[in-house]
Amino acid sequence: MKFCSACGAQEIELRIPEGDTLPRCVCARCGTIHYQNPKVVVGSLPQHESRVLLCKRAIEPRHGLWTLPAGFLENGETLEQGATRETLEEADARVELGALYTVISLPQINQVYMMFRARLLDLDFGPGPESLEVRLFDESDVPWETIAFRTIARTLRNYFLDRRLGVHPLHVSAIERRAPLPPDLLAAG
Ligand SMILES: [Zn+2]
Repeated sequence: MKFCSACGAQEIELRIPEGDTLPRCVCARCGTIHYQNPKVVVGSLPQHESRVLLCKRAIEPRHGLWTLPAGFLENGETLEQGATRETLEEADARVELGALYTVISLPQINQVYMMFRARLLDLDFGPGPESLEVRLFDESDVPWETIAFRTIARTLRNYFLDRRLGVHPLHVSAIERRAPLPPDLLAAG
């Protein structure tokens, strides 16, 4: 942070405010504490009969790879509104949202994914500005090698496993970056 968004001052200090436990960006002129907290990514897993809808990304990161419709929750929006909006924006798809299905914490990049199950209301979907292509996939056709994000691959894997079991419980998990291998292990190959 280079300047204070409250008063425009450039004197930003990193310090622990009184009564707090973590260092924060604090404006030395006006005293505003600029909290930084994780962002919520919200999306859906749209299904039609046995198939699921995926979007091929037209934007970075992961241009050209496949994903479920998802994006950052906006201020003033509920999770359900965000998931429905992202599905419309990225896949031009109208859905009836079902239950919240996966919640995945990504503490290394300060994000939380929240994905809902959804049922496609019609088949008039197509790529929005952020997608190159939108398609329905059977489980056997899912392009596992070119799924854009681990959160999406995990959501899809859960879904196909649960579908065999006939239950879709809420899955809460985390993806933490793997610790680098210690040098002796690296040398050992
Ligand atoms: Zn300020």
